[in-house]
Amino acid sequence: MQRHCEWISPHYDPRMSIEKSQVAFAESSLVMPGGVSSPVRAFQGVGGTPVFVADGEGCRVTDVDGNRYIDYVMSYGPLIAGHANDRVMAAICKQAGHGTSFGMPTMAETTLCDTIASALPSVDMVRLVNSGTEAAMSAIRLARAATGRNKIVKCAGCYHGHVDGLLVEAGSGALTLGTPSSPGVPKSVAANTLTVPYNDLDAAAKVFELHGDDIACFAVEPIAGNMGLVPPAPGYLAGLRELCDKHGAMLLFDEVMTGFRVAWGGAQVRYNIRPDLSCFGKVIGGGLPLAAYAGPKHIMEQVSPAGPMYQAGTLSGNPLATAAGITTLEILQEPGAYDTLETRSAQLQNGLETAAKDAGVPVCVNRVGSMVGLYLVDAEGDTVENFADATATSADRFATFFHAMREAGVLLAPSRFEALFVSLAHDEEAIEQTVAASEIAFAAVKRTDI
Ligand code: PLP
Repeated sequence: MQRHCEWISPHYDPRMSIEKSQVAFAESSLVMPGGVSSPVRAFQGVGGTPVFVADGEGCRVTDVDGNRYIDYVMSYGPLIAGHANDRVMAAICKQAGHGTSFGMPTMAETTLCDTIASALPSVDMVRLVNSGTEAAMSAIRLARAATGRNKIVKCAGCYHGHVDGLLVEAGSGALTLGTPSSPGVPKSVAANTLTVPYNDLDAAAKVFELHGDDIACFAVEPIAGNMGLVPPAPGYLAGLRELCDKHGAMLLFDEVMTGFRVAWGGAQVRYNIRPDLSCFGKVIGGGLPLAAYAGPKHIMEQVSPAGPMYQAGTLSGNPLATAAGITTLEILQEPGAYDTLETRSAQLQNGLETAAKDAGVPVCVNRVGSMVGLYLVDAEGDTVENFADATATSADRFATFFHAMREAGVLLAPSRFEALFVSLAHDEEAIEQTVAASEIAFAAVKRTDI
């Protein structure tokens, strides 16, 4: 193990300066709530200072103090081709020279929607929007419009954006009527959201038994990526499909995170389940703001102006975003792209597992394709299969691991409920350096355990 420590030294500086990030954070905090544009960018420790980024290249970012890190945040998933990928940049720059927004259709929108539809047996038509939140919000409106029903079901610990009706999580019971998880969400709105535990078919069956006549859709992340990374239990997604069919409800797969990441198409292709409606985002925008909701023609034709369900957007189908998205999908379509992601991610998973074992730190490392969830569990052999398991892991031990990784030159998202994202730019050397850093970080966790 020791052999790696010297080798990692170019990235390892325990006296890492973050002075400029601290000044930047003090300034941003005066004009931005919490100093950030999205809450998950803020974190506790090291003065509670977020990393202020100056530059990204491949799998690495450099902060404003000049510290260089291997990045597993990757903008929370979109950057599957890496930071500042040459081809994606060239496509954006080329388009920028011809205009950045028109409020009129472009052929690139058709190209992108056609690429998405041809990858997915469940999709004939696609509506482009600007964010995953917008996609989920609109897909739920469509499910309600198409079924004439009011209620939706979601899983505890699954995130579908910050829409009022989706900011609802379960209490500790198997199923509860919606309780808002943020002030500002009216109880009347939350009351239409029913929450069940992820990976629990019995709870899903029960909610349909009780409210089946008024359930418009069951919305689920087919692979849960907002409680770390939790794969669906065998038969879970097929069971949801059956329940939805039985009760005349729509199955909505939120593939904002998994779409075109875990397979060409997404989780629905990987697990061979056909949802009624799907949401996409992140990867299909190649790092620019773009998302989509999609489904078969007879449902999607209910969307305005083809049908009565209203939904619109000034910047929807933005030409810079479609250029980045089309190019990213072209890169992913090249032979071997998903194999490379799989191999590198497996290498990361195995390396983390071995490093933890050597340090005597119990972990559960879940992985599907290039999404990895690392949990510091209480005991060897503990698994994480739902939100309750994920929340039972120690936040303090994760914080120790996170900060030690950062000091060793590896950036993770500052939350144990976020996945690590591997990109095509994470080469073998980067993975080896990450594993070497984790040896230091697991040792730090072990020290705090004693
Ligand atoms: N759905 C899922 C599964 C997500 O992971 C996210 C964001 O992380 C969203 C929806 C919301 O997307 P956005 O942040 O683009 O609004």
